[in-house]
Amino acid sequence: MKYLIVLALLAYLYFTWRKQRRPGAGGGKAAPGANPASDAGQAPQEMVRCDHCGLHLPRNESLTDGRGHVFCSSQHRDQGGA
Ligand SMILES: [Zn+2]
Repeated sequence: MKYLIVLALLAYLYFTWRKQRRPGAGGGKAAPGANPASDAGQAPQEMVRCDHCGLHLPRNESLTDGRGHVFCSSQHRDQGGA
């Protein structure tokens, strides 16, 4: 019975080691216990750049003025593009 525990521990360490060796190299089937929201389950976000400070942020978190400029915050929108 002791060997079963040791074997399970070794298998756990082996899979952890394999996951750390190849980050992001998903081969299609997710490992059990993997975080589904890490990369595969999330749609890629379009990144936009603040016209005032140059910060990159997802489009759905950005603010735009009436002229198509993109800003990271209402403060930067009020200050306008640099
Ligand atoms: Zn900004």
